[in-house]
Amino acid sequence: MNVVYHPRFLEDYPTASCECPDRIVNILEALEGYALVAPEAASDAQLSMIHGGTYIETVKKECPDTYAVAALAAGGAAKTALLSLEEPAFGLIRPPGHHASRNSAWGFCFFNNMALSLTMLKEQGLIRNALVLDIDLHFGDGTVDILGSEPWVSIFNTRAHERTHYMDDVRKVLREHEYDVIGVSTGFDTYVRDWGGILTTEDYFIIGSLVKKSSEKRFALLEGGYYLPDLGKNVLSFLKGLY
Ligand SMILES: [Zn+2]
Repeated sequence: MNVVYHPRFLEDYPTASCECPDRIVNILEALEGYALVAPEAASDAQLSMIHGGTYIETVKKECPDTYAVAALAAGGAAKTALLSLEEPAFGLIRPPGHHASRNSAWGFCFFNNMALSLTMLKEQGLIRNALVLDIDLHFGDGTVDILGSEPWVSIFNTRAHERTHYMDDVRKVLREHEYDVIGVSTGFDTYVRDWGGILTTEDYFIIGSLVKKSSEKRFALLEGGYYLPDLGKNVLSFLKGLY
C-alpha cells in the first residue's frame, strides 16, 4: 500500500490549534515501514474543476502559506486516488477537505481533497462511478455541496452516534451497490476517546475490511481526528483492514 505524504504537511500554517502538525507526526510513527510517495500541488486549473476562481484567489491572497499546503493536500488526494487504481492507497494529508464547498470553507478545510480526487478520475475516464464513504464525526457538507448532484457519485455520511448503529449503517451502505472505486473520508474524531466517543480501534479495522470486500479499487484520505495518543494506532488499524 502506498501512503501519499509530503514534509510540508508538518508545517504549522495558520489554522485551529487542534488541527496541528503533531497529528501527522503521530501517524507517521505508526506507519513506519510503509512506502511514502510525495505528491505535487494541485494547479489552479485543477482546483477550478471543483472550486470557483474567486474563492481560489481569496484563499491565495488571505494566506499564501496555507494556500500552498492546501493545494499540496489536494494534489496528494488526486495522487492517492490515481494510485488506488493499481492498489489501495492512503492520503496522509492536511489540511482536511470535507468541509470545503465550491465557494467557501470552514472546519479547518480549504480545498475539497475528496471531491478533487474523484472528479479527476472521472474526467480522465478512469471510473464510471464512485462511492464516498465519510466516516468523520462531522457531516461532510463540502463534499455534498460539490458532488451531491453528480449522478455518478453516491455519498454516504454516517450519522449514527451509537456504535452498533454506526457499524450497521456502514455495513448496509457497502452492501447496497457496486462501485468502480470507493473513497473513504477517514475522520478519526469518531474514536471512543476523541470528540465523538463512538468507535474503537478494532472498529476502524472492520470498516477498512468492509470497504476491501466491497471494491477492488479503494483509497482513503485523512480528514479529522484529534486524540493524539491513539491517532496513529487508529489509522494503522484502518489501513490493515483496507489492505
Ligand atoms: Zn470531524
